[in-house]
Amino acid sequence: ADSYDEECDYLFKAVLIGDSAVGKSNLLSRFSRDEFRLDSKPTIGVEFAYRNIRVGDKLIKAQIWDTAGQERFRAITSSYYRGALGALLVYDITRRATFDNVKKWLRELRDFGSSDMVVVLVGNKSDISHLREVDEDDGKNLAETEALYFMETSALENLNVEEAFMQMITRIHEIAS
Ligand code: GDP
Ligand code: MG
Repeated sequence: ADSYDEECDYLFKAVLIGDSAVGKSNLLSRFSRDEFRLDSKPTIGVEFAYRNIRVGDKLIKAQIWDTAGQERFRAITSSYYRGALGALLVYDITRRATFDNVKKWLRELRDFGSSDMVVVLVGNKSDISHLREVDEDDGKNLAETEALYFMETSALENLNVEEAFMQMITRIHEIAS
């Protein structure tokens, strides 16, 4: 490890999953670089971003992986999930189908991920709630049934993005320490 890595107390991996165009890449760019893109540019190739976070007196380096435009069923391989301690499972509150597919993504997580993974269910695009097709309570109820954390976010308006990632990261830290 380089000297920079030695300064951090924990290094861990987390993954973003969910249907295409729900806003995964923009959530990650918002969290890691405070950037947003209006045009839809599908992620090409393997991508991940780092962010260092201080929790108490510990410095945590979070490595967050983004799907390489491989959101079709079973196109994401087990290596994507390997070693991941957390996941943000994202749907688009304005497209019901992306919410219906959450069950499918949970099945993948169960098949490929580790059983103690911290999962946050994220309903993104809360800024355009006039186009809403998924009630906030539907998200809450599903999260409760599946024992997930839950949050609605807007990558565009930077609402709850920090909170969603931090919920996952602090929970992982609690389990790991
Ligand atoms: P991904 O395929 O899941 O990585 O989705 P992207 O991050 O590429 O976003 C897909 C499209 O949704 C792009 O046109 C984004 O500009 C748009 N988008 C992403 N997040 C939001 C959001 O919070 N609100 C709105 N209104 N649009 C968003
Ligand atoms: Mg993407």
